[in-house]
Amino acid sequence: MHITEIMRGHSPTFSFEFFPPKTLHAAETLYQTIRDLESYMPDFVSVTYGAGGSTRELTHDLVERIQHTTKLDPIPHLTCVCHKEEEIDAILLRYAKSVIGNILALGGDRPSGMAYDKSRESFQHAIDLVKFVRLFNESGVHPDRRGFGIGVAGFPEGHPATPNRLVEMDHFKAKVDAGADYIVTQLFFDNRDFFDFRERCGLAGVHIPIIAGIMPITSITGLKRMAELAGGARFPAKLLRALQPCQNDPDMVRHVGIQYALEQCHDLLTNDVAGIHFYTLNQSGATRMIFDSLGIPRNRNLQASNV
Ligand SMILES: Cc1cc2nc3c(=O)[nH]c(=O)nc-3n(C[C@H](O)[C@H](O)[C@H](O)COP(=O)(O)OP(=O)(O)OC[C@H]3O[C@@H](n4cnc5c(N)ncnc54)[C@H](O)[C@@H]3O)c2cc1C
Repeated sequence: MHITEIMRGHSPTFSFEFFPPKTLHAAETLYQTIRDLESYMPDFVSVTYGAGGSTRELTHDLVERIQHTTKLDPIPHLTCVCHKEEEIDAILLRYAKSVIGNILALGGDRPSGMAYDKSRESFQHAIDLVKFVRLFNESGVHPDRRGFGIGVAGFPEGHPATPNRLVEMDHFKAKVDAGADYIVTQLFFDNRDFFDFRERCGLAGVHIPIIAGIMPITSITGLKRMAELAGGARFPAKLLRALQPCQNDPDMVRHVGIQYALEQCHDLLTNDVAGIHFYTLNQSGATRMIFDSLGIPRNRNLQASNV
């Protein structure tokens, strides 16, 4: 379903993010996670995209498997990194044939373990991908006459590659104006960063829905990995203070992490967030606990459509 309809039907939206599994065992675990979360009927689920090679095929396969074997609405991520125009065109064609409604268009993380020269890329920035998807949409190949709904990434704490925040907002606004329909943010642990970003977007004339990215911390290892992956992410003293006494107690760490994310969600919902996107790390437990604690009924979308 096109994101415009998703947003119109439900506000705030709830959505989950998965990454494609690399082994058969991980694939089965993920499929179980998807089944566990399916009964919550999120408004969409998104699937991340690797920097190259076989993992990319896994994304396409997982997106199609979700589309064809579940009731969920998958949104594939697509990145500029290591892609030529013909390749992106072929992927869009494949997704259009599978009636995938939306694409999240991203710059993409640098590939690790190989020499990489960004200046040789066909798509330098996410804006180029947004424009390309827009052109594809105009070709009329997609079964929805509007084509793909297009999402872009937002960074409430700022993106590390552009330290000048005014210039960063200019780039961001240009990306949105090129044809984006919605924004999903990088994870953040201090809601003030999100509210401030939302306000700055409004001041810059960016008025499309902004979906907040939330990642419940479930282990100290996970926290450290996130600090590495989401480079520059701020970990507020309030969160670290709560985690410090229970560092050696995995159950307590998980409890504290989930409670913290729950508080963030309550605050976001009170302040009219357009949607909450959970970085699930392919596990359903923490997300289910948060959903249940927020009092969101299972199958709410099915209930709504039966009214
Ligand atoms: C919700 C979300 C999902 C993600 N999913 C994935 C994924 O599946 N796979 C993956 O590899 N990565 C993913 N990422 C990470 C993301 O690709 C990287 O953080 C990337 O560095 C930035 O992506 P972007 O789309 O914002 O890129 P861009 O919009 O291209 O921005 C990247 C940097 O370039 C700057 N910039 C933009 N335009 C210009 C210009 N004209 N001149 C100079 N500088 C410019 C921006 O200010 C910014 O600093 C995700 C991030 C988020 C928030």
